Amino acid sequence: MPIFQALEKAVDQSPPTLTKLLKKFTLPDGSLLAKDELVTAYTQLAGTHDLAPFSEQVIKQLRMKPIRTLSGVTPVTVLTKPFPCPGKCIFCPSDVRMPKSYLSDEPGAQRAERNWFDPYLQTSNRLQALTNIGHSVDKIELIVLGGTWSYYPAAYQVWFIKECFRALNDFGIKTDQTAVEAQYEAMSYQLKQMQLHAPTADPATNQQNLKSAKINGENITQTYNQVVSELYVKPEKLGGFDQYQTAAWAELVAEQKRNETAKSRCTGLVVETRPDCIDEDEVLRIRRLGCTKVQLGFQSLDDEVLRLNKRGHGVKEIRQAVKLLRLAGFKIHAHWMANLYGSSVAKDKADYVKLFADPDFRPDELKIYPCSLIQSAELMQYFKSGKWQPYSREELLEVISFCLENTPPYCRLTRVVRDIPSTDIVTGNKTTNFRQLAESFLSSQGKSSQDIRAREIRSTKFDSARTLIEEINYQTSVGQEIFIQVVNQNKIIGFLRLSLPHEATFVDELKDSAVIREIHIYGQAQDIGKTELDKAQHFGFGTQLIERAKILAAQAGFKKLAVISAIGTREYYRKKGFSDGELYQHLVI
Ligand code: SF4
Repeated sequence: MPIFQALEKAVDQSPPTLTKLLKKFTLPDGSLLAKDELVTAYTQLAGTHDLAPFSEQVIKQLRMKPIRTLSGVTPVTVLTKPFPCPGKCIFCPSDVRMPKSYLSDEPGAQRAERNWFDPYLQTSNRLQALTNIGHSVDKIELIVLGGTWSYYPAAYQVWFIKECFRALNDFGIKTDQTAVEAQYEAMSYQLKQMQLHAPTADPATNQQNLKSAKINGENITQTYNQVVSELYVKPEKLGGFDQYQTAAWAELVAEQKRNETAKSRCTGLVVETRPDCIDEDEVLRIRRLGCTKVQLGFQSLDDEVLRLNKRGHGVKEIRQAVKLLRLAGFKIHAHWMANLYGSSVAKDKADYVKLFADPDFRPDELKIYPCSLIQSAELMQYFKSGKWQPYSREELLEVISFCLENTPPYCRLTRVVRDIPSTDIVTGNKTTNFRQLAESFLSSQGKSSQDIRAREIRSTKFDSARTLIEEINYQTSVGQEIFIQVVNQNKIIGFLRLSLPHEATFVDELKDSAVIREIHIYGQAQDIGKTELDKAQHFGFGTQLIERAKILAAQAGFKKLAVISAIGTREYYRKKGFSDGELYQHLVI
């Protein structure tokens, strides 16, 4: 009980003080009470035991990581199951408990493993955890990570996405107690299925098998693909597990339809894949799944570096993949790596310049991952033989600050340095807040990054009368791109990406259309239909941006405007006058 009284007092305190307070109330095993448990307890006990009645303010102040939803939507990341990957990249971790490239002690990966990599359970439990800590789960960006998406069996992909949508839809009807019960029943059914079809019935044996199957990058006797096929894929086939993880397109379409008006709507769907897995059919297929953005591993724009790192594709494939995705209106979220085998500080800088100087690339979003040395990666052999070594702190700072400084304002640097647990890094940089270090370094020289993330309005209040609409024009491999942004004193409140293609597209539905590739309004994610004064979302900026896009498209000679809408934004665009096509929505201008 004292914890709850202390909690009341803590309401006006900052998060570090709250952590201090929690340390005074450790659990019997010495661990701290999880903050989401604290919020749940507060929700249940407010108004009883001498506690004040429930207050939104309390929840707001207890919200642990408001930054997570300050980008306007709430991200929910789910991982696919461990499965072979066509890549043989020497820097890639081979943790056989995980889908390729992920490590079992990364927090997101642990969540996925706890949920048996089941999409329904992962999504449901994440929504619940986010709700418990006070986040809005009305607008969800669903990020599907793990290995190479396009390499998973087609039926698995349809099932995976269908289950994510089903979880969003079921969660939305939570206020009805019967629905809540049905949801948990459905979850335990899933769990039972997972247990029934696990590699062996005994979890201890599974653990042991996985431990002994650990891959040592210095002396690889079996590849990730071989071990994973043996441990998961083969038994699945024998046990019929893969038959259970399958769904028809019609089932997915039904869940998508439900999601259009669900409480938790999918406002963005992202998958990650390799450039050489992208062709016209694949682009259309991922669009049918409801995808709006693709994370694409560029890693380098130097053929020799790609070859040395055994990427299995060259720069030509990257150019082609970007072009096809652009022609279909997708947003492109690239991954680029520094410090790869065969590169250098000077080469990295030149490569980064090419990323934005060449119209064939110019990604919308970017993750910068300096190469880290992981024990299970083949790179260990190159390190041991002295062929490769990690950059010194000074070299890394030079590259990262150069990247920050040279990122154009239409690109969002979503991550700088991968958040790998330091215990997994054999040697090299273990600092995960490298972005801050590089920003401070730049600032000491009177410079700064102008990328989107550095300028986001977040929870800052602003004077709506002093906002401006600005446009940035640039060329891409398919035509002209206009980045229309709403700004207030160099802070970005929202933006729209308008594509004015001059290349003929293979997507019938988009022929002769200008395409809205993205609309994003920043600020704390708001419940659908709720307006909080001075905060960016629901301020009518979306409408202003669409109106401007109509004018610009018409001026460029287009008579039609299409949008690559996410399933959960279809209603929004219908209200703005767009009509449904097969995979896109359209407006005559
Ligand atoms: S394609 Fe991606 S996941 Fe596959 S091995 Fe290469 S880096 Fe790893």
